Amino acid sequence: MASGLRLHLCPRLRAFATSTRPLLAAHSGALPLRRAGHSMPLAARARRGLSTALTAATPAEADDFATAADLRFEPPLQVVKYPDPILRAPNKRINTFDDNLRTLTNEMFDVMYKTDGIGLSAPQVGVNVQLMVFNPAGVKGEGEEIVLVNPVVYKSSKRFIVFEEGCLSFPGIYANVVRPDNVKIEAQDVTGAKIKVKLSGLPARVFQHEFDHLQGILFFDRMAMDVLESIREDLKISQKVPGFAFFQFPPWQHVS
Ligand SMILES: [Zn+2]
Repeated sequence: MASGLRLHLCPRLRAFATSTRPLLAAHSGALPLRRAGHSMPLAARARRGLSTALTAATPAEADDFATAADLRFEPPLQVVKYPDPILRAPNKRINTFDDNLRTLTNEMFDVMYKTDGIGLSAPQVGVNVQLMVFNPAGVKGEGEEIVLVNPVVYKSSKRFIVFEEGCLSFPGIYANVVRPDNVKIEAQDVTGAKIKVKLSGLPARVFQHEFDHLQGILFFDRMAMDVLESIREDLKISQKVPGFAFFQFPPWQHVS
């Protein structure tokens, strides 16, 4: 996704990103994304394993909340690039909804816009907590800025779609990823208020990409083998370490 999905899911995603209707205004119902004349790419058959992986993914232990030290940051934030181990580290739940958290989310939006992203997770700026921000419009002052804290997926659609994604932690790499078309999620906003909403279209895609980051899962973990093969050389250059065993065995293939 042009977000952390570069629009970074990718630039072409901007076509999907101009809905004027609020994404999270209602706590139920589908979130509109598509405009007339646009449609999402290829429909794909559901993969039971991926669906299970998404719904089974859980944040850190409930009593393992982030401390003030965990939430410390220094602006201006820098995007962490693969293969920094921060991207694979556990991310703690948040139970302190204060000015520091608000400032962190503002800084995350700033770096997201500066890097042409439409979504960004906290570990991507070196803060290992359950926090993501996104704005499918990808432009400051346009669209709707969404902050989700401690998100949980409790339902995902059986219909899967293929969509080309990029990631701010993998500059210049774009490839197809299969994900559920829509997801029902629960989370908290920056004030701690509970949010329950169904996401579809681009917001669903951005959310799922960022949600994976909060589980230490990276977008190439979700790629089909042939897709992975097509970007193998780029990933090699990016990581500068040998070995692709992990890439060849995406985690969802191991979920029963
Ligand atoms: Zn990403």
